[in-house]
Amino acid sequence: MAENGASPVALELVPALPIPDHLIGEVRSKLAYVDEAIARAEITGDGDHIHLTLHQPIDDARQAQLDEKVQRVVTSMVKGAFRPKVQVLEDHLDRPAPYTQDPMVELLQRGEVSQEIPGVFALGPRLARLMAFFEDRFVELADSFQAPPYRFPTLIPAHYLERVNYFHAFPHSLTFATHLREDLDVIDHFAGQAACDEHGLVAPPASFAQVQALLSPAVCYHLYFSLADRPLPGGQLAATAVGNCFRYEAINLASLERLWNFTMREIIFVGPKDFVLENRETARQRMQPVFKEIGLAYRMESANDPFFIGEFRKQAAFQSAFQLKFEIRARLPFSDSTLAVGSYNYHQDFFGRSLNISLPDGSPAHTGCVAFGLERIAYAFLAQHGLDPANWPQWVREAANG
Ligand code: 5GP
Ligand code: ZN
Repeated sequence: MAENGASPVALELVPALPIPDHLIGEVRSKLAYVDEAIARAEITGDGDHIHLTLHQPIDDARQAQLDEKVQRVVTSMVKGAFRPKVQVLEDHLDRPAPYTQDPMVELLQRGEVSQEIPGVFALGPRLARLMAFFEDRFVELADSFQAPPYRFPTLIPAHYLERVNYFHAFPHSLTFATHLREDLDVIDHFAGQAACDEHGLVAPPASFAQVQALLSPAVCYHLYFSLADRPLPGGQLAATAVGNCFRYEAINLASLERLWNFTMREIIFVGPKDFVLENRETARQRMQPVFKEIGLAYRMESANDPFFIGEFRKQAAFQSAFQLKFEIRARLPFSDSTLAVGSYNYHQDFFGRSLNISLPDGSPAHTGCVAFGLERIAYAFLAQHGLDPANWPQWVREAANG
């Protein structure tokens, strides 16, 4: 049942252009942001039907509006798009992965995870220990580059994100932090009236101050900002940090695969082009035997970031053409799919130029990062090996079975 007791209804649309199979996932995930009436969106295999589930029936005028917005998404993402050439750097998808269930079912049954709201989960000791085990592996990788640890805040200033064009590239996934205005009447009124309904907190929007900060969507941005508007000390550097990251994913939020609030460990390189590219490649090679020992079935392949609709086609093609992003995609046997558990990124001199970070010769610094999602790697491991440590590869069993 939807809110106010109305029943969900199905709506089928024919996209103005057929959606090629390499874009089906990207378009589907963007449909989550098209209209608040949409509870679920699916695209059939051949890309010529969109099946929506709406929270409740809508009238013809609303339906025409919704249809126009869906077609706008389809047209801007599909028109003129070409199939990227996927480059595969490693393929270990055929490693044995004996478990075949969705671990989420057992994790929920055992009380090992509990959902606070969609995309936000409390995690119990089995997952916490597994994540700590993977963390140790990534810290070892950071140590192998003598990358010293940094600590960054969870909040990130709005003007930082503005300076790196984030509002334009990823507006859909932003999470804003605010507070009450510094006004006794506003605070008294709020304190007396604050209450939640089924959708969240009820309070007049005018109670809240202008947004100065957001919840940070990535870890490495904080490092680049700390280096902004000056020459890069020593001409090159490596750093590592772990942090909470936030990407709002609307109805796409499902299990530990896609979280609003997740944890990322990054190893970050700033310096000349070759320094960044060579370290990115070295990091890949150093992790190869680690993933083997952990028994992870995965493929490492070129990828693109989930840019918002207007930016998607151009930016994704650019990333693909210049091989700017590679993802470690772990196998999820239960759904016969893969999930990105880490990425190896090269930003060229984008941050160096945007933030005026200069090399000794006066040119802008290049940057790159290696980023691992801790919840995702633990989830993918459990999806392949199950929850019983007796069935885990020996190294993990001995180190993460508390
Ligand atoms: P990227 O910066 O490449 O988008 O993200 C780096 C890594 O963070 C991803 O490979 C993934 O492991 C993790 N990550 C990104 N988005 C999400 C998300 O929505 N949920 C979870 N659980 N992890 C994510
Ligand atoms: Zn990064």
